Amino acid sequence: MRKTIVAGNWKMNASKESVKKLIAGILSGMDGVKSEVLVCAPFPYLSQVESLIVGSEIRLGAQNLNINESGAFTGEVSASMIKDFGAKHVIVGHSERRSIYGETSAIVAEKVKASLEAGLTPLLCVGESLEQREGGKTESVVAEQINAVIELVGINVFNNIIVAYEPVWAIGTGVTASPEQAQSVHLFIRSLLGENNETIAQTTPILYGGSMNAGNANELIACPDIDGGLIGGAALKAEDFLHICKAG
Ligand code: PEP
Repeated sequence: MRKTIVAGNWKMNASKESVKKLIAGILSGMDGVKSEVLVCAPFPYLSQVESLIVGSEIRLGAQNLNINESGAFTGEVSASMIKDFGAKHVIVGHSERRSIYGETSAIVAEKVKASLEAGLTPLLCVGESLEQREGGKTESVVAEQINAVIELVGINVFNNIIVAYEPVWAIGTGVTASPEQAQSVHLFIRSLLGENNETIAQTTPILYGGSMNAGNANELIACPDIDGGLIGGAALKAEDFLHICKAG
């Protein structure tokens, strides 16, 4: 039985004041939440969130990492630094990193490797653009993104990876994949993992991301292969985020 996971991706949205309010709001509504709850904060706020969530069930994650352990990489942040602030997770391969910062599947795979080596559990994001979907390429795009990781790190480490299917056309657009569309890709991802190891396929959490909100979370998370959500916009409002956390 896979546990439901709800992860908030705050992207580049935070201030000390807003973080204080948001975490206080989430903490005040955690009663009755059965899902695993995770917040992925921008780097400068990891320390603040670390202190605010002490003693709670909320887990902390970052949104990106550099593949090197340390050294002359001005402006970059390593997996061990992220871990140093109590984070357990890091988002890897978000479509904004792939499209704006040119991260290829090979780079994303290296980032997964670096995070695993440091003891972080990566949230590996995959997903197709609208053009790729309309061209019938959804499965081949997602397969290429996942296979790049399997080829570099092997299937067995997927017991410590969370996959997030995030159709690019649904991220931040207000357009959500229908439960049928999402379930079909989630099932495809699970079968792809299953070609390598059926046990791993059945235990790997696969989250959906892309305009998930308080209104649509229930029907998406009810799908058999959707194990929770990676939430952008709706993760910035405690009430909406908690509603999604309670959907699981
Ligand atoms: C995301 O950034 O991963 C995301 C799913 O964003 P949104 O929920 O705003 O579409």
